[in-house]
Amino acid sequence: MNLDQLQRAFEETYRRPPQFIVRAPGRVNILGEHVDYNDGPVLPAAIDQAVYIAVAPGQDDCVRLHALDLNQQVAFRLDNLAQKRDVEGKPLPGWALYPAGVAWALQEAGLHTPGLLAAYTSEIPIGSGLSSSAAVEVGFAFAWQTLGSWEISRLALAQRCQKAENQFVGVSCGLMDQFACACGVEGHALYFDTRSLEWDIAPIPPEVALVIADSGVRRNLTHSGYNERRASCEQAVRELQQYLPHIRSLRDVKTTEFAAYSMFLSEIPRRRAEHVVKEIARVHSAVSALRRADKQALGALMYAGHNSLRNLYEVSTPELDILVELTRSLPGCIGARLTGAGFGGCTLNLVELDQAEAFIAGLQRGYAQATGRQAKVYLCRASQGVSLL
Ligand code: ADP
Ligand code: MG
Repeated sequence: MNLDQLQRAFEETYRRPPQFIVRAPGRVNILGEHVDYNDGPVLPAAIDQAVYIAVAPGQDDCVRLHALDLNQQVAFRLDNLAQKRDVEGKPLPGWALYPAGVAWALQEAGLHTPGLLAAYTSEIPIGSGLSSSAAVEVGFAFAWQTLGSWEISRLALAQRCQKAENQFVGVSCGLMDQFACACGVEGHALYFDTRSLEWDIAPIPPEVALVIADSGVRRNLTHSGYNERRASCEQAVRELQQYLPHIRSLRDVKTTEFAAYSMFLSEIPRRRAEHVVKEIARVHSAVSALRRADKQALGALMYAGHNSLRNLYEVSTPELDILVELTRSLPGCIGARLTGAGFGGCTLNLVELDQAEAFIAGLQRGYAQATGRQAKVYLCRASQGVSLL
């Protein structure tokens, strides 16, 4: 659906034109996987796939939503959000919890959320790990900021959205997704320190494309596997504190300290912690590689990151491994790894733009031959964060 169609759909639904359109991008993480809950740094980029929300002021305290991709509509009031019910008293549908949760989290901070009419559509595949949910949240937060005539920092906006997802929708997530969607900078990766919340940008060479390949496979393990990994990291911290009493999280363990004391750790926590400690070091190396435009070093860090997620963190799948291995013999590939929590989902490939077409064709052919499945592939560039069109 293009912007004209979005505009027309809005007019058909509400019998009036929208006042403005918000664009909120998805994101991909270039490096730094499973380090956010260990206080470590991540390296995401906003991508050019985005949610588009057409908005007009509504009447009183009422929000009307038309989710065009889902072909569903709902109306709810802003004065009783915590009840999670629509104007007729029926429970809000799951998809409406995201915008409603954003309004709730903004109100919690004393920010004005006027009634609104919205119709929205997205290019971000749902549930593939490109963070369609954060894009919806940040897009609506921006819409309310625009209508409400207040302004908070983009990072603060992202924090409101994280609160909405954690406490209103009920999904535990870090701050990276909302951060990248809110703070994206065109052509750049974002170095984001999840402990201090400081951030900085690092240029992605202009001739490099972000190619995202969806394996099309999801494992049900995502939830339990994720919680198990978190618990193992906490256990590793407790065990390491015997030797390094100052550490609060794996973020505080230097690679040399890990080498000195890892032999005293239990088997599983040792493997998980090795991934985290070295992944954090890889993120720092990747930032310097980007700053000196050292593509080869960056690619090596990505392959190393994948191997670590496969062998030490054990969150890869045979399909993701195949997608990464195929890239070794394909033209123009700088680096590849699984991206997101794992247990299925997508790989990220950094590819020379002028060879991207051949790369994608080769990847899809190889994947189909090896698995009998079709990989959906998206050619992306690093894009700016949430904005008004
Ligand atoms: P992702 O990894 O894509 O963020 P999540 O499961 O976290 O996957 O979030 C997906 C949810 O976000 C959807 O089930 C829906 O409730 C909401 N959402 C995402 N995209 C849209 C859309 N285009 N229209 C309406 N709701 C959407
Ligand atoms: Mg999500």
